Amino acid sequence: MVQYKCLRCEKIIKNEYIKRKIRCPYCGSKILYKPRTVSATVKAI
Ligand SMILES: [Zn+2]
Repeated sequence: MVQYKCLRCEKIIKNEYIKRKIRCPYCGSKILYKPRTVSATVKAI
């Protein structure tokens, strides 16, 4: 399942909303990005 994240309000947007228009349903921002998986964001200390 593909999930996008809003660059402005940082809310997770389901793929269902993007099928019609690429826009954040919460704040109306058109800038969305794919957040990386949790495993990829682990920092090597
Ligand atoms: Zn937003």
